Amino acid sequence: MRRNFYVANWKMYKTVKEAIEFLNAFIPLVKDINAKDIAIAPSFVCIDAVGRNIKNTKIKLCAQNAFYENQGAYTGEISPLMLKALDVEYVIIGHSERRRYFNETDEIINKKIKACLKENLKVIFCIGETLSERENNETEKILNSQLENGLKEIEIPESIVVAYEPVWAIGTGKVASDEQIKEAHLFVRKKLEEIFGEKAQTIRILYGGSVSPENIDSIMAIENVDGVLVGGASLDPLKFSKIINHKQN
Ligand code: PEP
Repeated sequence: MRRNFYVANWKMYKTVKEAIEFLNAFIPLVKDINAKDIAIAPSFVCIDAVGRNIKNTKIKLCAQNAFYENQGAYTGEISPLMLKALDVEYVIIGHSERRRYFNETDEIINKKIKACLKENLKVIFCIGETLSERENNETEKILNSQLENGLKEIEIPESIVVAYEPVWAIGTGKVASDEQIKEAHLFVRKKLEEIFGEKAQTIRILYGGSVSPENIDSIMAIENVDGVLVGGASLDPLKFSKIINHKQN
């Protein structure tokens, strides 16, 4: 049985002060918070402060990115080793904004995943098609190659979470239809089984793309949806708590 997982991706929002204000408001709003599987991915500069302020809860600390070397002359980069030392548990790798604005290829993403696993960090591996790829009926082809290349030579599937995030649904308010989500998640589940065999059963598949308190009930009712990766709505303590407190929870 896979536990539902709720992940907040704060992207490049919130100062340290704002991050702490968020936590003070958010923690009391979540029903039975320590029975829920929740992770928050603040910016790097807020990681330490957020980590210290969630210490007495079961909320997990998540990073939005990591480099594939542990140290060296890589100005501006942050390593898996540094994140581990701050008690980070999860790292988002391959987010579409990293692929789009920072030219991250499947090959780079694969190196980053391996580097994180080596430091015993768990990985939230993002995949998803663009609008033109969907319109050209290439969704499955894209998901197939992102999964095959991103997960090449990965041997610890139990440390992987996959997030299906159609690029056209991220930050646009345009959520994928229940049918589109169902089809994509079934495809991903089958592909994971092809790659990892029985061990794939433990891998959670999250949906991401304009998740909100209004659409969470229908999204979480879809087969093979094991949680959500939330951007915009996770910045607001009330909205993110409403997402976690949804009907089936
Ligand atoms: C994301 O950042 O991964 C995301 C899904 O953003 P949003 O919820 O704003 O679409």
